[in-house]
Amino acid sequence: PTRPATKGKPRLLLMGQRRSGKSSISSVVFHKLPPNETLFLESTARIQKDSLNSFMEFQVWDFPGQIDIFENPAYSFDLDAIFSEVGALIWVVDSQDDFSEATHRLSMVVLNLRRDYPHINIEVFVHKVDALAEDYRQDIVRDVRMQIADELGDNGVEELNMRFHATSIYDHSIFQAFSKVIQQLIPRLGQLEAMLTNLCRSCRFEKAYLFDVNTKIYIATDSTPEDMASYEICSDYVDVIIDFTEVYGSWPRSQQWRERLEGEPWMQPLENQVACEWAESTMVLSDAQRPVMLREVDRFLAIVAIMKEGSYDKMPQINMNVDVAVKGLTEFFEITKPKDSQEVVNPVL
Ligand code: GDP
Repeated sequence: PTRPATKGKPRLLLMGQRRSGKSSISSVVFHKLPPNETLFLESTARIQKDSLNSFMEFQVWDFPGQIDIFENPAYSFDLDAIFSEVGALIWVVDSQDDFSEATHRLSMVVLNLRRDYPHINIEVFVHKVDALAEDYRQDIVRDVRMQIADELGDNGVEELNMRFHATSIYDHSIFQAFSKVIQQLIPRLGQLEAMLTNLCRSCRFEKAYLFDVNTKIYIATDSTPEDMASYEICSDYVDVIIDFTEVYGSWPRSQQWRERLEGEPWMQPLENQVACEWAESTMVLSDAQRPVMLREVDRFLAIVAIMKEGSYDKMPQINMNVDVAVKGLTEFFEITKPKDSQEVVNPVL
């Protein structure tokens, strides 16, 4: 029931009132702007289509908050063009402000959309929660949820078909929320999760994520309970690798190169190796005492996993299992590509 419209690419719409934080969110998540610099962003005053360098092509449409697309015939928006291919509509609510107007607007949008575009996943970002103490964040989310439920209830809609996320651009919460949003749009996510769960079992990983490297959104993770700490470690590790790549460049490695640099015990004897032309890296974090490993799957995706302490002895087996998982993932994305948009959705896989 949560699948997006099938034709074309899945699209994300980012909506909300003026100054709620939409431009900041897309700049920080999709363009790596440091959060502090969002103070100088111009508020959104028009619809911005933004195509991303990511494993799927999302479009973030930054809607001006002051325009009411349903009630103002002067704008005569082509609603079908806007909503027919939307996978998820993200509504940003500024938690530091009085949010009654925002929840009212959202309720109106929900009422307008549910008839013609019931496939759209509605995701509410209760945003700028960095100003609130940890305990208080869920209270605010509950307040926003209740206001919307009340308003929809008054209009005869009893079920609240939407999810809520407490977000801030000043910590990892915005990336985690986007991860959840994106995961809803992935066909057969369960299979991806099962693959990662198997990988964790065979390699004795504590936690494994499949990252979209450029955005640090995770596409899937294994079945162990999610925790912010492991996501933070893995996402920081992705940053390290990206910085490294930016400085030193990236290149496919020849067999000769591998022979010179990667002897045993890291690698199996050469005849057992599977060719790997993408980046791979392992590092021990001094605070956690646990090694973290990263393996690129393709230009956009990478597996990042937290290993158990002392896993180094097992690197040959681990590398072999990771190779198998990478192959499986490549096949997975090959198979699940929408047939009518193979070139645009995923040019590399
Ligand atoms: P837009 O009009 O919805 O595009 O909103 P902007 O992106 O221009 O953001 C408005 C203001 O909110 C800016 O000054 C941002 O720095 C600030 N802002 C955005 N996100 C956050 C957040 O997570 N926490 C805090 N404290 N401020 C934020």
